[in-house]
Amino acid sequence: MRIRRLDIVGFKSFMDKTVIAFDDGVTGVVGPNGCGKSNVADSIRWVLGEQSARHLRGRSMEDVIFNGSESKPPLSMAEVMLTFVNDRPSELPPQYQGFGEITVGRRLFRTGESEYLVNGVQARLLDVNDIFFGSGVGRTAYSIIEQGRIGQIVSARPEDRRAIIEEAAGITKYKKRREAAERKMEATQQNLLRVADIVQELG
Ligand code: ATP
Repeated sequence: MRIRRLDIVGFKSFMDKTVIAFDDGVTGVVGPNGCGKSNVADSIRWVLGEQSARHLRGRSMEDVIFNGSESKPPLSMAEVMLTFVNDRPSELPPQYQGFGEITVGRRLFRTGESEYLVNGVQARLLDVNDIFFGSGVGRTAYSIIEQGRIGQIVSARPEDRRAIIEEAAGITKYKKRREAAERKMEATQQNLLRVADIVQELG
């Protein structure tokens, strides 16, 4: 899936609604130190379901809400919407396969309430995770490589590096399914043994 656009409002330094379009090819975000470049990456991580404020460079989750500047008062809500082109519908859960674009959204209010949205309809974090599971995108995936992470990957143990490549290549989901099928087969084998025991006892 390819990112088409990012809509941010009230998230960190983005007080005003900001739209970033990701056209074909490479998109770069440039600007002076402290202007909010990393906040763009944080907003993507956040909308994909990041649960750790520390991973978003804050102390509490409320820190992602615009907290005011010299001339602007703080806002009461942060909202991020991330739109993908659905170019591989068969890889999505059935209910989303018919959409040409998928927009995932997250809102957080200062009161502590929060919500996720998929194509404008309230959803659970689980639904968001299901969309991206095994796609190489997601809060725990490798679509966002922050400063320092490259070094970590290069010096990782070979088996850990393999896991990273498998997740990015979308193999992990098949491995998980295979593990689940093997567990089912094992349980069925146990049931068959039990049935054989009972048959023997009765006979
Ligand atoms: P560098 O090039 O130095 O890495 P950057 O362009 O990546 O910088 P960011 O780290 O994305 O910059 O943004 C930092 C700015 O975001 C700081 O000015 C900080 O005050 C502002 N900021 C972070 N959280 C909030 C918030 N909740 N409300 C308002 N501004 C915020």
